[in-house]
Amino acid sequence: MEGQVRPVPSRPEDSPYISVVIPVYNEEDNLPQLVRRLVQTLTATGRTFEILMVDDGSQDRSWEILTELYEQHPEHLRAIQFNRNFGQHRAIFAGFQAARGQVVVTLDADLQNPPEEIPRLVAKLEEGYDTVGGWRETRHDSIFRKRQEGKSKYGIRKLIRLNFDLMTGFSHFPIHVVGFLGLLIALAGLGFGIFLFIRRLVVGPEVEGVFTLFAILFVFSGLQMFGLALIGEYVGRIYREVRQRPRYVIRQQLGGDSD
Ligand code: UDP
Ligand code: MG
Repeated sequence: MEGQVRPVPSRPEDSPYISVVIPVYNEEDNLPQLVRRLVQTLTATGRTFEILMVDDGSQDRSWEILTELYEQHPEHLRAIQFNRNFGQHRAIFAGFQAARGQVVVTLDADLQNPPEEIPRLVAKLEEGYDTVGGWRETRHDSIFRKRQEGKSKYGIRKLIRLNFDLMTGFSHFPIHVVGFLGLLIALAGLGFGIFLFIRRLVVGPEVEGVFTLFAILFVFSGLQMFGLALIGEYVGRIYREVRQRPRYVIRQQLGGDSD
């Protein structure tokens, strides 16, 4: 699909015991120290291991540095480069797919979780646990694409349709805006209602309930918008699933018999 390169399938005879999967996005400053500490720690365990770096479309020198590091440790390092930024979780997912170890560990490239913890995680696994530890989830979205045409042959209707395709094709941003607005309006309506209620107690009855009605209306129309956005979110997810676009596209990889 779209020239996607699949990760190299595992060859059981030379598969390592531990695979460490690391998503990398603009981490040029951390990579040398990260690899040095990983190789040191993992070598000390006496187990066979591979370190699988997934470059998630970094814009800095991360890939060049990974290439240099690979040349220093070809027996321990593998690297996959995405053709653009797909996000941390897809990078980890790609790493999991390419991993050959019996035990797979993932950690961030920014040295926030020290590599020296890995032996303890592995020890826990060997006590019989299926999964150990965890990671914080972050969102790094915002994928908007611009189209530049030479001379436009687009009529207004086609243009609207194209823009709608672009909007729904690449992000859920519009529906998030609706949802956010809805929530805001509902909250504003609630605030207004509370304000009116307190005013009623303090000032006493004023105009006959018109503004109260407004407050109630705002709450409900806000909730309606929010509900709509929620449905939109589901539909968007179904749409994304149905299209079966590749989760990521690999540009090149180093190690793991890829060359
Ligand atoms: N990361 C990635 N793609 C992205 C953003 C981050 O692969 O689009 C990687 C990043 O290099 C790091 C890990 O995901 O190894 C966690 O990222 P970050 O430290 O920014 O997140 P946080 O520490 O806030 O969870
Ligand atoms: Mg971090």
